[in-house]
Amino acid sequence: MSVVVRFAPSPTGRLHIGNVRTAVLNWLYARKHGGTFILRLDDTDRQRSTDELAAAIREDLTWLGLTWARGERQSARTARYDEIAGELKRAGRLYPCYETADELDRRRKRQLARGSPPIYDRAALKLTEEERGKLEAEGRRPYWRFRLANTEPGEPLEPLPTLVSWVDLVRRDQSVDVGSLSDPVLIRADGTFLYTFTSVVDDIEFGVTHVIRGEDHVTNTGVQIQLFEALGAEPPAFGHHSLLVDATGQALSKRLGHLSVAALRDAGFEPMAIVSQAALLGTSEAIEPHRSLDELAALVDLESISRAPARFDEAELRSLNARLLHSTPYRAVADRLEARGVTGGEAFWLAVRGNVTRIGNAVEWWAVISQPVRPVIEDQQFCARAAELLPPPPWDESVWETWTAAVSADTGRKGRALFHPLRLALTGREQGPELKALLPLIGPGRAAARLKGETA
Ligand code: GLU
Repeated sequence: MSVVVRFAPSPTGRLHIGNVRTAVLNWLYARKHGGTFILRLDDTDRQRSTDELAAAIREDLTWLGLTWARGERQSARTARYDEIAGELKRAGRLYPCYETADELDRRRKRQLARGSPPIYDRAALKLTEEERGKLEAEGRRPYWRFRLANTEPGEPLEPLPTLVSWVDLVRRDQSVDVGSLSDPVLIRADGTFLYTFTSVVDDIEFGVTHVIRGEDHVTNTGVQIQLFEALGAEPPAFGHHSLLVDATGQALSKRLGHLSVAALRDAGFEPMAIVSQAALLGTSEAIEPHRSLDELAALVDLESISRAPARFDEAELRSLNARLLHSTPYRAVADRLEARGVTGGEAFWLAVRGNVTRIGNAVEWWAVISQPVRPVIEDQQFCARAAELLPPPPWDESVWETWTAAVSADTGRKGRALFHPLRLALTGREQGPELKALLPLIGPGRAAARLKGETA
């Protein structure tokens, strides 16, 4: 059986680090098993879903390298959902309800006061044809509930404890007591479908073999397994991964805009730093930056994901990003650097990469080399003397050693006393990449001028 997975975001917000975790775990699973990754946009909620957000999701996934072999949108499939819903209605598994939210609320309060579980009492199932007609004549439009299979013949309405069980790819033995749930609404009064239903129809029709998603869907799985069965289909395998929490243990929510893929991209993070963290968080593997999705696919196993919530730490992402860049070859960044006016080539990149945490830092170092810098002169006499001792051009990478040896011999300075004033004068900064690599890039004219205290 070939593996088919899907990532199914609702286009009601931008992708954030939490969704990326679901997307990447699906993608890696497909890659590892030679399977297919489907992008399905769960956009049946037309009020909250927009085309712009759908396009943004595609853009974000593409930027992360999470390509899809097939793209689907639920909003294009309503005719099919109508057909399948018709089958369930005819089979008596979908039934019309008319209670308003207020009526249901009052009923729940009464149930709670009596000490009974506040689940839907299936009163609508007791309505006669005539009563239904009357309600509709009053202008009430029905919404439709899925009748869970949790009763015994003879006691048709009273739910009994009914465990739906599966072996979860992450959480191992799982069961949900569908006898403790209300029959879920699958069709709203305006005729639109709820994701619980459309997802199952699509998973059947697209041949999805593995549903990998966040553990906030565990209860849904109990209901959805019954839906697969009601539609005569074998349920797929399910894997529910832990959710991300922030440093204080709070769930990361979509509202954390600065953790959206777009914001992280704008802040200069590398896709593979984000993807590495999203994939490895909460697993037994060390969180290291990986250079390719294939490398990660070989590493990530759903079984190795811990059930404890996975703590997302922004500082860790920054560190992964820095470590990734420190070993990134020039060819991997050449286009981006050139697009930002950095023309220093490989020599420049190799000189600065060990000092950058984001690609933008390289642009800043390029400015230190190629734009006027106000030097910091700690010791004017020493710097002026050092300027006189600069070797004549042409310079190569040995210039730093030749020059500092000469300055040391002339002034008797060594170590920090020798190097630090030179760094401050040449770059205007306390710290930075090795001057051995920077000096030839700064060049004789600028170096001499800066040592003399001129902005150059
Ligand atoms: N649209 C659902 C969500 O974003 C998909 C859940 C699933 O993968 O089945 O939560």
